[in-house]
Amino acid sequence: MTLERLQFDNAYARLPEYFFTRIQPTARRGTRLLDISPDCAELLGLDTLRLDDEPLRALMAGEQLLPGMEPLAQKYTGHQFGVYNPALGDGRGLLLGEVRTPHGPMDLHLKGAGRTPYSRFADGQAVLRSSVREYLVSEHLAALGIPTTRALAVAVNDERVQRETVEPGATLLRVAESHVRFGHFEWLAYKGDETGLKQLADHVIDRHRPWLRQHETPYAALFDDVVTRTAELIARWQAYGFVHAVMNTDNMSILGLTIDYGPYAFLDAYVPDRVPNHTDTGGRYAFDQQAGVALWNLNRLGNALMPLVEREALVTALEGFSSRLQQAFGAVMRQRLGLYLEQEGDAELCREWLTLLYQSGADYHRSFRVLSYYDGSEMQRARLAREIPDPAALAQWLERYDARLAEEHCPVEERLESMQAINPVYVLRTHIAQRAIEAAEQGDLEELALIRECMCRPFTPRAGCEAYEQAPPPDEAAVCLSCSS
Ligand code: AMP
Ligand code: MG
Ligand code: MG
Repeated sequence: MTLERLQFDNAYARLPEYFFTRIQPTARRGTRLLDISPDCAELLGLDTLRLDDEPLRALMAGEQLLPGMEPLAQKYTGHQFGVYNPALGDGRGLLLGEVRTPHGPMDLHLKGAGRTPYSRFADGQAVLRSSVREYLVSEHLAALGIPTTRALAVAVNDERVQRETVEPGATLLRVAESHVRFGHFEWLAYKGDETGLKQLADHVIDRHRPWLRQHETPYAALFDDVVTRTAELIARWQAYGFVHAVMNTDNMSILGLTIDYGPYAFLDAYVPDRVPNHTDTGGRYAFDQQAGVALWNLNRLGNALMPLVEREALVTALEGFSSRLQQAFGAVMRQRLGLYLEQEGDAELCREWLTLLYQSGADYHRSFRVLSYYDGSEMQRARLAREIPDPAALAQWLERYDARLAEEHCPVEERLESMQAINPVYVLRTHIAQRAIEAAEQGDLEELALIRECMCRPFTPRAGCEAYEQAPPPDEAAVCLSCSS
């Protein structure tokens, strides 16, 4: 199917008009497509798109919409670094329309589409740097099996955008089942708009979670669903060493997707208190704070839903958060370690592995990947020892690991194959994303596409891409990023 044949069913645009502002994208001069994700195209049921696709270019330039689109900026609010801000909303992105796909409805959202009534003092622009970062990580997280918004394409334009320096402008075509955030509900609750709250909750249920309608108390069931999915999302972030870095409630998805990528980072060395955002001086959104922050955010959502849900049901759901997170985290970590029979000491063995990585300064991702070749042989021990530079501690841990593996029924080759299928070779570390940005800036679209291909097939080693497997050189490790984007 071509882009122009997409069928739209714009349910959000049928909600009350005060939920949003209808507005056209701002045209961006000199827009050129930089890269397109075949995985995301497939999700939408589209044929292979090429970089010379004129309808896609014109769409991302804000010049020409597709038939059936009804662009609008959504109103929402949120708690930013713990403080409620009633003035938020889509400040530079527009929901263009909702595509019908075999996987259900998918929002098409253009980021960098111009000023809206919710832009406040900002310019409505997106820059190339952060657009490339969001583009790649969206498709990468999806490939890692972590729920996320997606990105169909990224484009550069001739705008000159002032951030810390002047940067090239860009647009990103974001794709997601929904862009509804915790902050949408917080806004309606703040206004005391109970009818609006019901309408939005009904929209989410009918459109995305229709089975919850069968429940005796559907709004309570929706909240419980959000708690569970958020717990499962955070468990995956923690298991794969991902730091979102700006977990404000306006950046929390009601469907439990990762959304609104800013100064995010993957860990390199296992440093649990890593804070990639240099303006987050208090470390509120540090890697090891994400579970607590998610629960705090869920409490804000629960507060907003008080007019619709019995207090007791809210509390019960919130009380289930930690155990669901632990359960989901344990399940992913056991798989990453190749432990398939759930056993008493597994959590302990996993903690000891993390302690080993922490104390030895080993690289988080490479250690898991090399462990996925560990067959007990001297050769594989030596490989591990090259990654984990503490021979005594490694030997001690391996002794316990060997004993634990002996209790598994799974043949070694099968275990290693399964481990290699979930422990990535390629991880979109900050210095690799930086390399992609520089390639894009220099017009080297082949390198950008190659990095995207690696990140979309992160478990499969590719000849010639060894550079993308590496931890950063010491002087580039753990750099902090600006949250300006
Ligand atoms: P964030 O935390 O980056 O997701 O953004 C917080 C709020 O600021 C959201 O309402 C955004 O739409 C808005 N925003 C961020 N950057 C810009 C910009 N360059 N122009 C207009 N609004 C922006
Ligand atoms: Mg309106
Ligand atoms: Mg945001």
